Amino acid sequence: RLHEFLVRRQAPRRPNETETGGSRLVVLAGPTAVGKGTVAGYIREHYPEVLLSVSATTRAPRPGEIDGTTYFFLSDEQFDAMIEAGQFLEWATVHNAYRYGTPRAPIEAALAEGRSVLLEIDIQGARQVREAFPEAKLVFLLPPTWDELVRRLTGRGTEGPEEQARRLETAKVELAAQEEFDATVVNTDVPEAAREVVDLMTA
Ligand code: 5GP
Repeated sequence: RLHEFLVRRQAPRRPNETETGGSRLVVLAGPTAVGKGTVAGYIREHYPEVLLSVSATTRAPRPGEIDGTTYFFLSDEQFDAMIEAGQFLEWATVHNAYRYGTPRAPIEAALAEGRSVLLEIDIQGARQVREAFPEAKLVFLLPPTWDELVRRLTGRGTEGPEEQARRLETAKVELAAQEEFDATVVNTDVPEAAREVVDLMTA
């Protein structure tokens, strides 16, 4: 599967405005633990017409994560090879730790077919997508309150105290970036937030 994924090379080309429908490429970003993954997962389940991009990452899988579905889990060497071959639409080092990137080919294929595409990526990645596709719509997911964000981060228990502290620092910087975005959605209720994001694709 990995091999197939890596060799599926395409001449880099940018879909034009008509192909992207102005706003069919939507980037969902926001601070750590705001629930981007949960909202994106809800969209995958309830809005199958939307392609949810599967990112590549150099971090190790967590229990229950499936290679090729949650992420493509790559070695540093494999990730380097994809950068080298120009196969990422964007990539970034997130939380000063691991690298994450959006494979270009599936996105361009879906847009060319007229499908809507959702990227759930960090803010550095969102900025790169804005450069590559000025017509992409950037959506910033907000927590109802800061205290709620801290509660969600400490409550999910997937990170140790050091990693939690690091992610909260990142979250403060990330929250300041919301002005750069085209729209904000407050994640109080997941189905509601998901619907607002999908509505932005068809608006
Ligand atoms: P996690 O390790 O918790 O799955 O994800 C950590 C962070 O990486 C999240 O903020 C997520 O949005 C970001 N991320 C996931 N995939 C990508 C990607 O393809 N590109 C970028 N720039 N960030 C990503």
